[in-house]
Amino acid sequence: MTKTSMGSLQEVQRLDERIAHLRKEVVAFDERLAEVEEPALAMESELETVEKRMAQMQADLRRVERAAEDKRVRIEKLEARLNKVQNLREEAAVRTELSLIRKAVETDDQEAYQILDQLQRTEATAEELREKTEVARAEVGPSQQALLDERSGFEEELAELRARRDRTLEAVGDRERKVYEAFHSSGRSVVVSPLLEDGACGNCFGMVPLQVQNEIRSSGELIRCEACGVILSAELEPEEVEVDGEDEGEATA
Ligand SMILES: [Zn+2]
Repeated sequence: MTKTSMGSLQEVQRLDERIAHLRKEVVAFDERLAEVEEPALAMESELETVEKRMAQMQADLRRVERAAEDKRVRIEKLEARLNKVQNLREEAAVRTELSLIRKAVETDDQEAYQILDQLQRTEATAEELREKTEVARAEVGPSQQALLDERSGFEEELAELRARRDRTLEAVGDRERKVYEAFHSSGRSVVVSPLLEDGACGNCFGMVPLQVQNEIRSSGELIRCEACGVILSAELEPEEVEVDGEDEGEATA
């Protein structure tokens, strides 16, 4: 079936409405995908925080243990010196230092013990979180896949519609096509509209002057509604775009 320029233009417009509708659906899918993943993402981020804290604790623990070790080496040296002191004054000095260092070592040991205790409790929390994260991820998987499958179905339909649009547009005259694309890219959804039987514009329902009506009906030239600017077509609306068996009225946005 060969279509006239105007008829094709109206079909392109219908296809564009359907395309706009499908694109909204795809965006909605992306939002739903993010929602589905949300609990798992939150859990993973919490786990990450806990693991960072544990790494910090381990670093602290190593630092404290090294400090205690250094002090123990110093204690050994001081104890050896005790055997070689020359006088009481020297002995007293060594003993003072020894007692200070022993106290410091005790403090280090206590601190190390506290860190270790905290580390073990945090490790238990992390283990719990790891299990929960795994469960959350496992739950996300199937619904995510279902959404992705559904979404790719929509994308296939979109690609089909776009190809069909390009083919239909080939039957449209150059001038009409340019006007249509300019309108369309500016975000207008209605570019071409029929001239109604009573002589009104099919878009704004303003009356079109009789002389212009006659021109539209006889010439098939590109004539636009003076009131709203749509291209007026004397032809009847083309049949509905049947892509996935949906009926009319649904695709209008
Ligand atoms: Zn109008």
